[in-house]
Amino acid sequence: MILSDQAIGVLGGGQLGTFLSIAAKQMGYRITVWDPDPGAPAHAWADTRIENAFDDAEALFSFIHDNAVITYEWENIPLDLVASIEKKRPVRPGSAILKQLQNRIREKDFLSTQGFPVTPYLPVLDPTTLPAAAERLGFPLICKTATAGYDGIGQWRLTNAKAAAALRAKLKNRESGWILEKVADFSKELSVIVARNAAGAAVTYPVAENTHEDGILRLSQIPAKIPVVLSDRIASLGKKVITALEGTGLFCIEFFLLKDETLLINEIAPRPHNSGHGTMEACDISQYAGQVRALCNLPLPPPHLLSPAMTINVLGDEISVLRTEAALKKLLVIPGLHIYDYRKKEIKARRKMGHITLTGPDSAALLARARQVRDLLDDVSKNNS
Ligand code: ATP
Ligand code: MG
Repeated sequence: MILSDQAIGVLGGGQLGTFLSIAAKQMGYRITVWDPDPGAPAHAWADTRIENAFDDAEALFSFIHDNAVITYEWENIPLDLVASIEKKRPVRPGSAILKQLQNRIREKDFLSTQGFPVTPYLPVLDPTTLPAAAERLGFPLICKTATAGYDGIGQWRLTNAKAAAALRAKLKNRESGWILEKVADFSKELSVIVARNAAGAAVTYPVAENTHEDGILRLSQIPAKIPVVLSDRIASLGKKVITALEGTGLFCIEFFLLKDETLLINEIAPRPHNSGHGTMEACDISQYAGQVRALCNLPLPPPHLLSPAMTINVLGDEISVLRTEAALKKLLVIPGLHIYDYRKKEIKARRKMGHITLTGPDSAALLARARQVRDLLDDVSKNNS
């Protein structure tokens, strides 16, 4: 067990790192955040900040020396760095898992060889092979970069051979290549968070129902509006996947639910997830508190839902609304409304700048309150355009 007189090191300083830092500090742990971007939001919450490049040997030495356990809040951090830290200190989840999950081809290969359901896919290592692979798989398809994608970045929808040929002409060689995935005709997108400690005990959080807009997560609701048998199936699949990975730490598994109730696994995140923000208000153990417990090998009972909740991501310029007196007067009178502003230095279009979580008695109340919030955000977007 890692006790609170010790420190936890976090690679990456985004909002997930912020909320982990808050949960860990609440329990008395000290936090080191290592992110080369001095403006990374989690730096503001850290006891120790490291802003050196990820290949800085001196920074690496003190990071290892100062922290009892290490994690990351973003999967696109250098694998070499994680592997070299792991020689001296536990990294949870470890570098073998990070390697599997950093690359969408390896991730899908792992899932399918273990017998977990995924959408039909083909690797494309050379752009010249893309049109033939697309024909073989059949349209409609999504082409994704095998590495380094997030929030739908590095993805192209292909509906016919002409589109595949046009994309082939556009793609420049990249070492890790691309993956072609058959578009899943889903009725819902669902996700489940799984926390697993070093002793191998795993627990799951209430299943979330997610709505994406333009490839980016917009709304997330817990519990998902699905029958209990289905959420039980998802929880059990989630635990099986993380157990097969031998993962320690906190994970999120994203699913597509097809019309015939088939579940396909979209991807696995080896870290807290945007769809779990609502657990900060809605569960007795938030995903971040669960992450601390999993990292430090503390007891980890199954988290309980205290209230239904809906999280709305605040994207790009919408954040400026949350910073005005007029909007706050309208928003903060809505019952069960919680505002989060990540205080990112730069506002960029489509960037996740903050979120609002609503708690309420039931799905209908949440939807009505979410509508009020969306209307307010939309008004501002309209005024700005
Ligand atoms: P995030 O960071 O939000 O997880 P990402 O860049 O890792 O996004 P994915 O999760 O692969 O990308 O895809 C983003 C969204 O695009 C999915 O949640 C889903 O809505 C849609 N999508 C991706 N792959 C497929 C597919 N094979 N079939 C149908 N929809 C898909
Ligand atoms: Mg995803």
